Amino acid sequence: MRLIMLGPPGAGKGTQAALVSAAHGVPAISTGDIFRANIKGETPLGLQVKEITASGGYVPDEITNAIVRDRLAEPDASSGFLLDGYPRTTGQVEALDQMLAESGHALDAVVELTVDTDEVVQRLLARAADQGRADDTEHVVRERMRIYAEETAPLAAVYRQRGLLHEVDGMGTVEDVTARIEAALSDRAGA
Ligand code: ADP
Repeated sequence: MRLIMLGPPGAGKGTQAALVSAAHGVPAISTGDIFRANIKGETPLGLQVKEITASGGYVPDEITNAIVRDRLAEPDASSGFLLDGYPRTTGQVEALDQMLAESGHALDAVVELTVDTDEVVQRLLARAADQGRADDTEHVVRERMRIYAEETAPLAAVYRQRGLLHEVDGMGTVEDVTARIEAALSDRAGA
């Protein structure tokens, strides 16, 4: 199973990605987690992306695409993966298409979690209090939502045209949302 999880910051992508990937026996790959681990470890990549991520901007496509290319080449991703937070730009969609074409694989589905903006801001501010992420202040949260709407929301249209998009209501309990995602995945033609 090769899956993409789309959704605005705070939609619960990370939580659902972990549950859905475990259920399907594929790794959940989060570019945000990869960047955070590198920032924490003060690696050259971490130093390069620290300020960009702290301000809510997007890491340049060349950097992000190269990281995903390496990660997808790991053995655990050979029979499937769930991408969380990637692709986020049309350039990344093209890069992923290229990587998949090279390995002779295709995406099975794209799940877009839809949410209520006000509720999402509240969730993110609660997470900031919990986890102390540098990019969860209200100002940065709003900036990340604006960039999402501008850069990433159009990706849903691309995948819809390809017949891969499943919009799933991301509001409600974690269990409810997981059940909706699984229902959407099992409804796929040929699933
Ligand atoms: P969220 O989905 O809550 O916004 P993520 O953990 O997915 O957070 O990403 C955190 C930050 O990492 C983003 O705001 C961005 O700066 C950077 N980032 C993550 N994935 C990408 C990507 N695919 N392209 C560019 N930047 C990214």
